Amino acid sequence: MRAIVYRGVNDLCLETVPVPEIGDGELLVKVAVCGVCPTDIKKIHYGLLPPPRIYGHETAGTIVKIGGKRSTLTVRSPSAPKFVVKVGDRVALHHHVPCMVCHFCRHRAFAQCPTNKRTGVTAGFEPAGGGFAEYVRVMPFVLPGVVKIPPRNTFEEAAMFEPLNTVLKAVNRLNVLPGDRVLVAGQGPIGLMFTKLLKLRGAHVLATDLLESRLKLARRFGAKWAVNANAQDSALAIPEDFFPKQTRGSAASVNRMAPFDAAVIAVPSDAAVRQAVQMVRGAGQIMLFAHTKRAGTGTPSADGHAASGLYPLDLASICVDEKDLMGSYAADFTIQKEVGRLIFSREFDMRKLITHRFPLEKAAEAVELAAHPTEDSLKVVVSVNN
Ligand SMILES: [Zn+2]
Ligand SMILES: [Zn+2]
Repeated sequence: MRAIVYRGVNDLCLETVPVPEIGDGELLVKVAVCGVCPTDIKKIHYGLLPPPRIYGHETAGTIVKIGGKRSTLTVRSPSAPKFVVKVGDRVALHHHVPCMVCHFCRHRAFAQCPTNKRTGVTAGFEPAGGGFAEYVRVMPFVLPGVVKIPPRNTFEEAAMFEPLNTVLKAVNRLNVLPGDRVLVAGQGPIGLMFTKLLKLRGAHVLATDLLESRLKLARRFGAKWAVNANAQDSALAIPEDFFPKQTRGSAASVNRMAPFDAAVIAVPSDAAVRQAVQMVRGAGQIMLFAHTKRAGTGTPSADGHAASGLYPLDLASICVDEKDLMGSYAADFTIQKEVGRLIFSREFDMRKLITHRFPLEKAAEAVELAAHPTEDSLKVVVSVNN
């Protein structure tokens, strides 16, 4: 079969590799669509993990074989009702599933669970998702994450399952109440998902980005205000109608210097974090979502947004002002049902996010575009067997 093999920093090669062999209780899935995810891009650009690997983990496709000469398989997990999959089912895959019983899982810190750190979907070599290949093997421990796609929904919509899950997980960690004012910095595909989900929760979102086209989109995704965050300019130009009228009650207490109840940083910019810590009110929350590159790993990107991981923070803003600086990473397996409801009902229509499709042999171009978005690009996907 054809696959895009990561051979070293920025080196993605179209190669012929064996179709993965599957064992008893495993699935062979013919890949239809795989989304290009920023975390894979970082691994490819900075060489964070040793080659060779086949990346791609936002995968949807069709079950073509079940190990052990079976045509159906019953999937059981401690956290979800059992279900049956069969050959021919259209499915979205989930490459990380936690054990649900370890110390981390008992604290609902699923991304830290050792089982969750294992990758259970592979097209060969060290398992790395494998979605940039024609077929993937799905191992038993990630089967509880398999989601069947309703007939009316597309593979592309299903491929957005994992990214939307990660965003919903982060939104769930915020104490956002209806009517709260939330800053969402960065309106790429992930930032737009935050804007939309927060809007669905009744929050008033002020979205920022450097691209005018994305600010326009942010409004369409539910942002009440959309402001260009000029990188050179430290002060955010907040529109006057953002501030509630200073009459009586809670409105009178809005601090114009720190008017946000929460902030989401969906762009790997340290300056955006510093600004958000200042502009969130006391006891507000600052959610880091894009700072996925550790300090000292690889060279900084040329766009000036490379996160150093090191910058001075007035710790009194955490202690005295009780601001929560928090992060969220990866998906929460236990909210799959809610993710499915949002996507498959089209309450959140994922089709609006996907702007570019590349065939498998051009996956390297897909990664380049996703890494260097243009005015008209949002979510980029690789169409494999279409
Ligand atoms: Zn992803
Ligand atoms: Zn666990």
